Amino acid sequence: MACGVGIQFLAERFPHKPVFPGVDTTGLAVNQAVGWYEERCKSCGRCVLAMTGGICPVTMCAKGLYNGPCGGTNKGSCEIDPDQPCAWYKIHERLSQQGRLDLIMDITEAVDWNDQVPRTLIQPGYEKTEKAQDN
Ligand code: SF4
Repeated sequence: MACGVGIQFLAERFPHKPVFPGVDTTGLAVNQAVGWYEERCKSCGRCVLAMTGGICPVTMCAKGLYNGPCGGTNKGSCEIDPDQPCAWYKIHERLSQQGRLDLIMDITEAVDWNDQVPRTLIQPGYEKTEKAQDN
């Protein structure tokens, strides 16, 4: 009964035992109501929420665009699914409300999508440990 991380962690430690996931993790979501979850984070490691008024352009934009809307945004709706708000419309709206619209002109570097191998993070204080030196 864990996300995929917990299942894999145990599978590595007990390689001769089969593992049976009890849940099927679909994402990092907010709980809008009982049994109703909406994905908000993809754990991308490139968090820009401070510049986008707390609205994630990776999860909330169908194309995961970091630097403003595509040409298909239409009266606040997304071209991919008109029932969904355009993330960049919402970001513009939010930053306007906060008087921080200048932030929308900041350019976020292109993401290197070639770098999609499993990431390892070692906090600076632990870099000298034996396990970290193996990596
Ligand atoms: S319309 Fe907006 S949310 Fe939809 S893909 Fe384009 S920028 Fe992203």
